Amino acid sequence: MSGTHNHAATATALIELHQLRKSYNLGQPNEAEILHGIDLHIAHGEFLALIGPSGSGKSTLLNILGLLEPLTDGSYQLQGQAVQGLDDEALTLLRRRALGFVFQFHHLLPAFTALENVTLPALMSEGRVSTKQREQARALLEAVGLADAAHKRPSELSGGMQQRVAIARALVHDPPLVLADEPTGNLDTAASDAAFALMRQIHERRGTAFIVVTHDPRLAQRCDRIVELVDGRIASDQAVAAP
Ligand code: ADP
Repeated sequence: MSGTHNHAATATALIELHQLRKSYNLGQPNEAEILHGIDLHIAHGEFLALIGPSGSGKSTLLNILGLLEPLTDGSYQLQGQAVQGLDDEALTLLRRRALGFVFQFHHLLPAFTALENVTLPALMSEGRVSTKQREQARALLEAVGLADAAHKRPSELSGGMQQRVAIARALVHDPPLVLADEPTGNLDTAASDAAFALMRQIHERRGTAFIVVTHDPRLAQRCDRIVELVDGRIASDQAVAAP
């Protein structure tokens, strides 16, 4: 059954969507509704896969959850805060406090070292990087197995290592939720497994929640819950049986 997850009651849900709708080109002849009334409850610390055919609305949903795009109708609460009606500044603050992002194409800046790339979110939000933040970034690189690569530039690292830098960067603010869009999509099997194992380890150690968009059924099966979108609706929502 879809939409019937029974989670233990926590004080506030991490994510609460109620009848969320998204249309593009609103009011124009080519207006199209892409998400048709999504109800979704995600608790703190979940590790969830978002799957579905190409064009089913996964990226659109992830962009809305990431506060990168507005919803058209319905409601979205992130950590108990309603996001509708927040201005850009408030959205930026909430995004910074609550979210980390890992994308398929890691978007590391080529002119910066691994360490500098990890501290980039701090540099961008505060204009400087404190000693504490630099230490935190160093510790994160160590946690992702890249202590020795701190001063290397992306071009000197393998694709898998670059993705681990991107995962460290997503964690530099210690967000309660990481959104990952095909995080292992451009990696070979071994590097993909390693990057995924790293996300699971972070989840276990820090209690970070993950929403992972993936085409890979093997990876989806290694999450705790699989939400499937088909044609902009939740077609199934199931817990994955422990191995
Ligand atoms: P998925 O990530 O599952 O492949 P998307 O969320 O990228 O799906 O796309 C869902 C649908 O929304 C597609 O039909 C796509 O063409 C449409 N779409 C996505 N972005 C836009 C946009 N900016 N304007 C109009 N239509 C869009």
